[in-house]
Amino acid sequence: MGDALLQYQSAATVTVDVLLPLSVITSYPLPKTGANCGDRPMYQLELSSMPFSTLGLSEEIVRAVTERGYTEPTPIQAQAIPAILSGGDLLGGAQTGTGKTAGFTLPILHMLSDKSVKGPSEGRPPIRALILTPTRELAAQVEESVREYGKYLKLNSMVMFGGVNINPQIQRLRSRVDILVATPGRLLDHVGQKTLDLSKVEILVLDEADRMLDMGFVRDIKKILALLPKRRQNLLFSATFSDEIKALADSLLNNPAMIEVARRNATAELVSQKVYPVDRDKKSKLLAYLIREHNWFQVLVFTRTKHGANRLAEYLAKVDIPSLAIHGNKSQSARTRALKEFKDGTLQVLVATDIAARGIDIIDLPHVVNFELPHVSEDYVHRIGRTGRAGAEGEAISLVCVDELKLLADIERLIKREIPEEVVPGFEPDRNAKPEPILNGQNRGQRSGQGRPGGNNRQGSKPSTQSLAKPRGAPSHQGAGNSSGRPAAPRRTGGRSR
Ligand code: AMP
Repeated sequence: MGDALLQYQSAATVTVDVLLPLSVITSYPLPKTGANCGDRPMYQLELSSMPFSTLGLSEEIVRAVTERGYTEPTPIQAQAIPAILSGGDLLGGAQTGTGKTAGFTLPILHMLSDKSVKGPSEGRPPIRALILTPTRELAAQVEESVREYGKYLKLNSMVMFGGVNINPQIQRLRSRVDILVATPGRLLDHVGQKTLDLSKVEILVLDEADRMLDMGFVRDIKKILALLPKRRQNLLFSATFSDEIKALADSLLNNPAMIEVARRNATAELVSQKVYPVDRDKKSKLLAYLIREHNWFQVLVFTRTKHGANRLAEYLAKVDIPSLAIHGNKSQSARTRALKEFKDGTLQVLVATDIAARGIDIIDLPHVVNFELPHVSEDYVHRIGRTGRAGAEGEAISLVCVDELKLLADIERLIKREIPEEVVPGFEPDRNAKPEPILNGQNRGQRSGQGRPGGNNRQGSKPSTQSLAKPRGAPSHQGAGNSSGRPAAPRRTGGRSR
């Protein structure tokens, strides 16, 4: 498996408007017209010569997929489907937006409905496939896909996640469930209550495994693995490949086929990126100004914290920009409502944390805003990968204050390019502003309230002891001197001099 960084770095240098496989290592034969193009971009023409019907899926599944409007498989589908149908384990390097969900659900549906494969003969049919996801939203979406793609089959699926009453789930488990899509915590609640039997699972999927580990599910996953039969097929999907993921893959997978694809436009040229230098306490006002000035709709805004997401959504709503926040502390119904309104265009702005946005099928958006830069540079790539429509330009903007220069430098190093900047008249950042540590994801000015005039709300803070204060190679948090001679652009003080 190639380094996930390579995936992003390569994507930054290639202009494509279709899904793009960047490196593919397979341990099985690929179809003739196959997606194994090494590092070559794959264009739609190549894809269209391989219809779904050539992948070995049943007529019922092809019919459902065609009705859904898919004319040809995406690269990950073209590769994963034959690999999974062959019965082996799979390690997939792919994120939301690549079509990975159909990549694993279609062959699972096929295998479970295939009459030539004998199922158990006595008693209530057992759960045969278990799909674990990090978030409720992703679980709901995956199960919806299972139902839709399997609508002409006699298979039953169920979704199981926390934050809702457990009793209807217990009730549902009393009837037939062939495919269970679950988040780990609630699944273990059921195990604790002895309402769930996983002893006959034939296929296990860990979807967005990196996010599951980030969210601290590693022990839960290990507990769940111990409940499954030893002989089974394992499919692991992850957007990144940390040592932890590699260790998990090593312990879980047996001689897996390996596939890696990048999502269309992951920092590709089609996403126009821009940095707006601004003082930390003027970010909200600048965002409201930009949204109004450019008449932006369907704006996905990222904050680092749940609290920050709430506060920003409240501020925007107060200045008459319809806006809701979505994060892990919101009730399931609030999350579902926000997402629905955002998708159908009635909600102008959705403010999200990285984890909440992850796994949500909101891609191809016209505008993505980094209200705060993420601590992890790869998250920047995930965030901006949500924008850019096929062939059309998407726009990803970042509001960057002096505290975030180190984060910006890290991002630019990762994507191997400088992001152009624009200072908005009336929002020129204070040249003399001193960087402050970002503690618990929040800038000091933001912790102490929004939109206060003057802005310099320093209270004798000590430099952070967290990683941000310990630059790894790039200069960080330097003063606001301006080496480029351009006015009041804090990033010039730290972002360019490496
Ligand atoms: P996923 O990466 O699985 O979350 O899928 C991202 C989006 O691509 C979803 O909206 C899917 O409905 C859509 N999609 C998946 N497969 C295809 C396909 N073969 N052709 C067109 N769209 C697809």
